[in-house]
Amino acid sequence: MFQEMMAVMLRVGLFIVLILSFSACESGSPIVRSTAIAPPAETSLAVETASTAMEDENELRRESLVYTGVIAYGIKDKAVIEAMRTVPRHEFVPDEYQSQAYANHPLPIGYGQTISQPYIVALMTEAAELEPDDVVLEVGTGSGYQAAVLAELVDQVYSMEIIGELAERAAADLKRLGYDNITVDHADGYFGWEEHAPFDAIIVTAAPDHVPQPLVQQLKSGGNLIIPVGPVGGTQTLWRVRRVSEDEAQTENLGAVSFVPLTREER
Ligand code: SAH
Repeated sequence: MFQEMMAVMLRVGLFIVLILSFSACESGSPIVRSTAIAPPAETSLAVETASTAMEDENELRRESLVYTGVIAYGIKDKAVIEAMRTVPRHEFVPDEYQSQAYANHPLPIGYGQTISQPYIVALMTEAAELEPDDVVLEVGTGSGYQAAVLAELVDQVYSMEIIGELAERAAADLKRLGYDNITVDHADGYFGWEEHAPFDAIIVTAAPDHVPQPLVQQLKSGGNLIIPVGPVGGTQTLWRVRRVSEDEAQTENLGAVSFVPLTREER
């Protein structure tokens, strides 16, 4: 009798476990089910759920990059770290490289150019020693990512790009993302942007073989020019050129870097 009761209880228990695990499986795959059989209204809900999930995943990947590729590499400025945490790098990366959008390395953006490594973007931004009411010039818009990071930190960003298609695409992307304090121009940044000078800081994201004097001239006294200088295709040195007075500048070596060359012909 006792054994029979135990056997029945065991069967009931097994049945409950089966039901529970079956319903757990069901709730584990709502998106697949609704995209397969849902009517149109629910399908769009499923698509929305999927894109929200993608955004959450990008946020997690960005958060992880900020710890492993920015803070762990020695970036300390809280505002810079917060900007790196905020700007959606994946929005500046071509579709075919989306899976690497939050890897700590540069990626191709077309026309032989690259979006810079996130750590280098943070390093250059920190080195510029920015204040909230600053006006900053960037030479080498590329994807627009560095400009967006700057725009999180200062009042106004002017960014120059020598390749027309990149200038246009970056301006459109930045507008779409709501950055209304960035102005992009298609021009050779070697000469700076006289009309909006002097600047509190200038960041150059392509490497010339010497420091362009027009850029030093367009710095305010006390302002920083952050610029990689060196041979095409080789390792360059990242410099901070601080304009200490009208006719004096101090230079500081920030380490070895590798940038695309600063070219001189508009395309
Ligand atoms: N800051 C960019 C990195 C772009 S790579 C980003 O965050 O994505 C450097 C860019 O500088 C390239 O797009 C290249 O076309 C541009 N460039 C090269 N020489 C230039 C020049 N003389 N004036 C303006 N832009 C230049």
